[in-house]
Amino acid sequence: MRLILLGPPGAGKGTQAARLVEKHGIPQLSTGDMLRSAVANGTDIGRKAKSIMDSGGLVSDDVVNQIVSERIDEPDAAKGFILDGFPRTVAQAEALTAMLADKGISLDAVIELKVVEDELVKRIEKRAAETAAAGGKVRADDNADSFRTRLEEYRNKTAPLSAYYERQGELKTVDGMADMDVVTAEIEKILQGVRV
Ligand code: ADP
Repeated sequence: MRLILLGPPGAGKGTQAARLVEKHGIPQLSTGDMLRSAVANGTDIGRKAKSIMDSGGLVSDDVVNQIVSERIDEPDAAKGFILDGFPRTVAQAEALTAMLADKGISLDAVIELKVVEDELVKRIEKRAAETAAAGGKVRADDNADSFRTRLEEYRNKTAPLSAYYERQGELKTVDGMADMDVVTAEIEKILQGVRV
């Protein structure tokens, strides 16, 4: 099963992806996690990406396309995967379409978590506060300024992907404002309807 989770920062993609990993035994391919680990490891990509990520901007398409393509080729992704945070621009979506065709595989569903934007700032503030209270490290981009930029990037560059996948007949939407368990159940309902 190969899926894309779409939705703005704070929509709950990470939470739902973790549940899908558990239930379906396929990996979550989060470009955010991959890039954060590149930053933590001080790789070339990490050094280039750090300041862009901290400010809430988007890393270049070429860089993320490359890391996703390599990640999809790893053995644990052979049975399927959940893409979280990729694609994020129409150019990335086009690159993904070409990449999958090249690899001889296809997507089963693109699931968009629809949310009310005003709620997102509250969610992200809560996530930062809870992480700090638990003694964890708050993400460098989980602050008001970077979050505003992340939302703007989403609105300008990522939101158009809904139309892209709608045109391909692959888009399914879920109410991301519902209770987390309800969102999970809705996603499972969609997956039952797609082969897998
Ligand atoms: P969010 O909580 O905003 O969904 P992510 O963990 O997915 O955060 O991504 C964090 C940051 O990593 C983004 O703001 C961006 O700088 C970078 N990033 C992640 N995925 C991509 C991508 N597909 N294209 C460009 N930049 C990306």
